[in-house]
Amino acid sequence: MTKKRRIVFATGNQDKMREIREIFADYDGEILSMKEAGAAAEPDENGSTFAENAMIKAEAVHQLLPEDIVMADDSGLSVDALGGEPGIYSARWLGRETPYKEKNAEIIRRLTGLTGKARSARFHAAIACILPDGRHFVTEAVMEGEIAEKPAGKNGFGYDPILYLPEYGRCSAELPEEEKNAISHRGKALRLMRKKLLAALQEG
Ligand code: IMP
Repeated sequence: MTKKRRIVFATGNQDKMREIREIFADYDGEILSMKEAGAAAEPDENGSTFAENAMIKAEAVHQLLPEDIVMADDSGLSVDALGGEPGIYSARWLGRETPYKEKNAEIIRRLTGLTGKARSARFHAAIACILPDGRHFVTEAVMEGEIAEKPAGKNGFGYDPILYLPEYGRCSAELPEEEKNAISHRGKALRLMRKKLLAALQEG
């Protein structure tokens, strides 16, 4: 990749940073979390889509760090039988402090009596990027699955134990980190972003 502005990612989450650094390994410039760059932004995520919320976060950091390439993500679980819930509210659903064990049990409870495709659900991820010259873009991806009958697996976080991936015969939390990153919503959206950014930087 060419030119060497810093990329600052609007997260404090070190797992996400590790994944981003892996995917942007050939980027010839520093890749920092917002915290490492000395910025703190907590904008109101009041958009109505993952893409809007990712752009709201990126815009807030862009205001603080206008010389850097800024990226932000937003993600969540959408369950079709629940009208897309928890969706953009995934982190706040049933309360931010409620343990995922309870949130996951509640989703399974609400799907009682449904089988197979009627349990369809997916993780969504949107990544937003703003360049110092104001160009901006969003990439999005999903990881399709079904809500499991019961939670399984110890890897990952959040709703990983209840998203069963029929293609892999396992729940997302049963996949080793690398295997999940290779197929996950966030991994796919980040790889699309890498391509878009490369193209934009080549344009000049
Ligand atoms: P955020 O995009 O970091 O704000 O995450 C939103 C929320 O979506 C997380 O707190 C989780 O509840 C859920 N989520 C997003 N991605 C995943 C995933 O890969 N596994 C499990 N839960 C996820």
